[in-house]
Amino acid sequence: MSLADLQALEERYLMRTYRRAPLEFVRGEGALLWDAEGKEYLDFLAGISVCSVGHCHPAVVEAVREQAGRLMHVSNLFYTEPMVRLAERLAESSLGGRAFFSNSGAEANECAIKVARKHAHRRGVEAPEIVSFERDFHGRTYGALAATPSLAANPALAPMLPGFRSVPLNDAGALREAVGESTAAVLIEPIQGESGVYPVADEALLAARNACDEVGALLILDEIQTGLGRTGSLWAYEQTPVRPDLLTSAKALGGGIPIGACVATPEAGEVLEPGDHGSTFAGGPLAATAALAVLEIVDDPALLRRVRELGAELGDALLALDGVREVRGRGLMVGVGLEEGVDSEALCADLLERGLIVNAPEPATLRLLPPLTVDSTQIERAVAAIGESLLSYAES
Ligand code: PLP
Repeated sequence: MSLADLQALEERYLMRTYRRAPLEFVRGEGALLWDAEGKEYLDFLAGISVCSVGHCHPAVVEAVREQAGRLMHVSNLFYTEPMVRLAERLAESSLGGRAFFSNSGAEANECAIKVARKHAHRRGVEAPEIVSFERDFHGRTYGALAATPSLAANPALAPMLPGFRSVPLNDAGALREAVGESTAAVLIEPIQGESGVYPVADEALLAARNACDEVGALLILDEIQTGLGRTGSLWAYEQTPVRPDLLTSAKALGGGIPIGACVATPEAGEVLEPGDHGSTFAGGPLAATAALAVLEIVDDPALLRRVRELGAELGDALLALDGVREVRGRGLMVGVGLEEGVDSEALCADLLERGLIVNAPEPATLRLLPPLTVDSTQIERAVAAIGESLLSYAES
């Protein structure tokens, strides 16, 4: 089927929720993708931080293949070993309590929001509130959407779920003021991803932690994009002065198979009871097996050290380019702040022509989320392409 055929079918049958680049990918391996014409691309977006172990990592492919041939689904009315082993692995590598599985990031946040509201009701709070940062992104289901201020403001999607408010990023004072007796939780990303890679300052994280502790609210860190080694530690919070009560994970967790998780401390893990929450597919043996294979790869001190080293290498090289104003982020979660006036979408389109995939989360920013298994040569190739593209942009 030609690209024109695909586009005609899309136009006829798919809801218009995405603006796709005119490209069909047919194969992936490590940090490389190939389109239907056989052209090779260096993938520095990794399916928006999903393919962190690279495309079609042999260990993940083998684990999924074996599990798919044996048992794919039985529902949460029965036990399967991959699910409980994954819960153990996630809890023991983070907050030590219990996990709830979901099928996406937004759903992992829905679970966290439920835990927070129920936890607040137990404190006698009648109308619990969740506080987030402006420009946070927590997903598109209604609860997660209500905690995503820029999208929640869309009047076409009203009425919004009540009980959500936001404060400017890194405004510790505003955060302290916003958290009060009716606060159920502060729900934030440790580094804002979708809005352009903006890290939360330690001071703001500490303000959130302390404010929550003072009123008995929960601190929820959305590690859907930052987690699983992306920043050079298994969880981003490990490189900060705070530890959350709940963390949410998804994206890279299944290496491409949909799965999310909400992981709790022992105390927060006791809040939900039978009937409070559920999901037909969640934690199924296929997705859980994929996630166990992914964790086996990314929960490795040598890989995490390499992510920190490569991140520093990438950041230094980008900063040396003409047209780059600043480099934000941690590890291999990189936001490239471009000089005023540079159209990042045009740059992305040009980079695609040059065989490099990145994206433009906002007008003057490129976001780079390469697989964590990328090598130095591929980093050099990406930086060279960005340098050439910036040069030709400046000359045009
Ligand atoms: N939270 C963060 C930080 C994200 O980056 C995303 C997706 O980009 C989500 C939540 C939503 O995840 P999903 O698209 O799997 O629902």
